[in-house]
Amino acid sequence: MTLGSIAHRTLLQPRSVADALKMLRDEGPLTPLAGCTDLYVALNFGTLRETRFLDLWRLDPLRRIERRGRALAIGALATYSDLIASPHVRRMLPMLAAAAREIGGVQIQNRGTIGGNVANASPAGDTLPVLAAADAVVVLQSTRATRRVPFNEFYTGYRRTVRRDDELIVGFEIPPVRGRQWFRKVGTRRAQAISKVVVAGVVGDGGVRVALGSVAPTVVRAVRTEAAIARGASVAEAQQVLTDEIAPIDDVRSTAEYRRRVAANLLARMLADRP
Ligand SMILES: Cc1cc2nc3c(=O)[nH]c(=O)nc-3n(C[C@H](O)[C@H](O)[C@H](O)COP(=O)(O)OP(=O)(O)OC[C@H]3O[C@@H](n4cnc5c(N)ncnc54)[C@H](O)[C@@H]3O)c2cc1C
Repeated sequence: MTLGSIAHRTLLQPRSVADALKMLRDEGPLTPLAGCTDLYVALNFGTLRETRFLDLWRLDPLRRIERRGRALAIGALATYSDLIASPHVRRMLPMLAAAAREIGGVQIQNRGTIGGNVANASPAGDTLPVLAAADAVVVLQSTRATRRVPFNEFYTGYRRTVRRDDELIVGFEIPPVRGRQWFRKVGTRRAQAISKVVVAGVVGDGGVRVALGSVAPTVVRAVRTEAAIARGASVAEAQQVLTDEIAPIDDVRSTAEYRRRVAANLLARMLADRP
């Protein structure tokens, strides 16, 4: 089998979430497949080693976006177009709508899912800082149980998560967010670019929350920076703490030095937007 070919690969197509979870348990290991926008890139590059897939695309219950009590509940299969169109997202989590608008082009927005972005675990994933700053909870389900993992504990290292092989990400729960939400992505160009630095934050009376992507092996909540601001640090002091707190690398997209500088600039801008 050549790695870039779909011959000799198997696709299981469950009719319900319960079916999907049973297949994961009984017929695994299986690789979940949602919009396929990340998996297809790997296929195209000839790096896709997995051979058995579980197609989630038709599982409509996982596409719902709704209010659950005071929280916002977003199904893992919600696409970027769904997020942009959702009045709940626009009202309760506008920084997620802002992130979704900047992801790929319309084709990617129609196919790419929030669950795929999170599960793919790239430190450059644009929805990740939003979920981190919003104190989201990842809902994981298997045939045995449903467990809720704080988003900020979901990643354990570069492209590693706490998801077990028999679990699917079924959705995300976001508690009410108080304060002004802020999202900014910096890439090589204005659109259709992978982030060099991506920042999401909440600026409110209760303090500041800030999360960054592409500046460490996983998305990071800048907790030391948040604490410094809470203690009354000046913008310049907060920038210094942030610069020390993040651990960017040099890679094909950018240099560590550039990322540090941009992250500090974005922090200053976020704070300047304070009401
Ligand atoms: C041209 C192009 C532009 C892009 N631009 C951006 C961009 O600007 N910003 C950005 O962040 N990303 C971008 N991406 C990456 C990609 O579109 C997103 O990461 C997308 O959200 C992936 O979702 P998907 O449903 O297509 O995932 P898939 O490709 O189907 O799956 C991705 C990974 O997640 C796993 N997975 C999917 N759903 C689940 C689930 N429910 N439970 C457990 N595991 C699951 C799969 O097994 C796989 O490992 C781009 C991709 C392309 C091709």
